[in-house]
Amino acid sequence: MEINSWLQRMATSNQYKDFVSVVDLGNTTEGRSMLALKIGNPGNNQKVAFWIDAGIHPREWISIAVAIWIIDQLVHTRPKYLDNVDLYILPVLNPDGYEFTRNYDRFWRHTRSNCTSLSPYECCAYITLHSFFGLWMYSYSYSIEVDPPHKDELVALSERAVAAMSQVGNTNYSAITSAELYPAAGVSDDWVTGVLGVKYSFTIELPPDDPHLNEEGFVVDESLIVPIAKEAWAGISTVIDRVVQESQCPCACCGN
Ligand SMILES: [Zn+2]
Repeated sequence: MEINSWLQRMATSNQYKDFVSVVDLGNTTEGRSMLALKIGNPGNNQKVAFWIDAGIHPREWISIAVAIWIIDQLVHTRPKYLDNVDLYILPVLNPDGYEFTRNYDRFWRHTRSNCTSLSPYECCAYITLHSFFGLWMYSYSYSIEVDPPHKDELVALSERAVAAMSQVGNTNYSAITSAELYPAAGVSDDWVTGVLGVKYSFTIELPPDDPHLNEEGFVVDESLIVPIAKEAWAGISTVIDRVVQESQCPCACCGN
């Protein structure tokens, strides 16, 4: 897969290799590698981990494009917070499904692999990129009746993220719990919140924000990739800032 070779190139380039490395998460059922990039400055062993993934649902191509844009942005700007945070970015969580949508059925929606080996790493924050609807969602997804731990903080941070995104782009993002969209069992953000105990876990449903669209909502014009990515990045950066702030006081992070 072309994206994997690009990730490998990033991690081996002289320019980036001191702060970028490839994390191999193993092979899919069809034998493709699941590769994430770890981006973070070396030299601090008290860092927090921030996990971003995309491409769980194969037809949501814009999520993959946004993850790639984020990697590109991070390696080129090398922000100071990389001293305190390691960002793990997995742009194609479901490479088998992605290839299937490229070669056979653009709107195929199910998983072709049963691999969901999300972060084995200690993780303080998790964001999963999806499309579409223009939503910023916090846990839980499985039931609207059950509140996640730290709900007030999740809501407050979600509202800040949405406000930051509205400064940058034109999408009408709203912040809701995942269950308000459709209660769904076993989605990754619940797993991360409920099982791994990650405090900040969000799902972003990228644009378009028109709820009346059908399958055509998964097809995003190339010219919109960068504006969509910049807008999403404004929201994600709000969460990174918060995690960095809390990392100064380790007792606050992850609720321990
Ligand atoms: Zn999705």
